[in-house]
Amino acid sequence: MRIEVGVATDIGKVREGNEDSFLVQPPLFAVADGMGGHRGGEVASQLALEVIETLAARGKGSLADQVREANRRVFDRSLKDRNVTGMGTTLTAALIGPGTATLAHVGDSRAYLLRAGALRRLTEDHTLVARMIKTGEITAAEAEVHPHRNVLTRALGTEPDVGVDEQDVPLMDGDTVVLCSDGLTGMVNEPQIQAILEANDSPQVAADRLIKAANGAGGIDNITVLVLRISDEAAGGDLTGVGQSSSSSQVSAPVRRLFGRALVWIPIALVLLAAGVFSARAYVDRQWYVGVANQHVAVFQGIPASPAGLHLSHVVFESNISSTDAADLPLYSNIGEGISAQGRDDAFAIVDQIRKDIVGAKAGGTGLGGSG
Ligand code: MG
Repeated sequence: MRIEVGVATDIGKVREGNEDSFLVQPPLFAVADGMGGHRGGEVASQLALEVIETLAARGKGSLADQVREANRRVFDRSLKDRNVTGMGTTLTAALIGPGTATLAHVGDSRAYLLRAGALRRLTEDHTLVARMIKTGEITAAEAEVHPHRNVLTRALGTEPDVGVDEQDVPLMDGDTVVLCSDGLTGMVNEPQIQAILEANDSPQVAADRLIKAANGAGGIDNITVLVLRISDEAAGGDLTGVGQSSSSSQVSAPVRRLFGRALVWIPIALVLLAAGVFSARAYVDRQWYVGVANQHVAVFQGIPASPAGLHLSHVVFESNISSTDAADLPLYSNIGEGISAQGRDDAFAIVDQIRKDIVGAKAGGTGLGGSG
């Protein structure tokens, strides 16, 4: 079996750094889309891929095992290093074997299969809107414009353990497998992706054109695309290594979720501007707190108030911690009203503290936590 590889990553048109990473170590391929303030996203995506690269080279465990180990490593690092507290990453990996692609997946990067004129999505997004579509709360069309469409329900490195979707996909001669970050799929729809893949035989040209299309549509996020053309001939790919475009990464701003945030704020900004409160939006935008979303402890950006029915905050991260468990502890009894944080990192640190305090309380501890 022959794998012809095309790969490209781009900062996009808006972001100040590229927090996406990719791995090309035939027959193993992966993309990772990091999140977390400051250096966090970049560190998370790169570390996760380095871990699976190392474990794969040693032949340790299944691909999903390697991803679970990567989760632990990123999580441990985020606890130890204050500069990257709360970081996380998506990870979508494909191990190409004879006649089969083994996939392991966490988050909202995606894998696609193009075969005989049909593009099929192989992965399920671990996002709030994907869950809302499943429960029938919203339609797929509504999800595309939902202000919270980029909020992840599962990421690698944000919890001690993570569920990894794994599957084996039978491969045929002439198949094309695509791995990509949401910087592509958020800007370019599936028919367009298919058209570009079909118009360009060279996987590298196809990858470059897909990046160009995403940038042409606005390039609001970092974009990473891996295109694998599978054929029955002998030989294999020749590229190798963990890649990440060089970038200046000192910029503050919650880098990963700007897309969702920008849309949430458009109507609010208009109202505030109309009221002559020019600095209000910037002020609100800098505020962070820990509150409750879907009965879970969650990190919010904004302020926990809704004057005149305006929502001045949005969920950045929903943990798997029960808000009832948190509210049962005296320290967090007012979590429903929002616990203010000094910033994004502080908000994630508070969530970690709540988790520890709940574990401590259940183990018969004091039930009192640190200040966060
Ligand atoms: Mg992204």
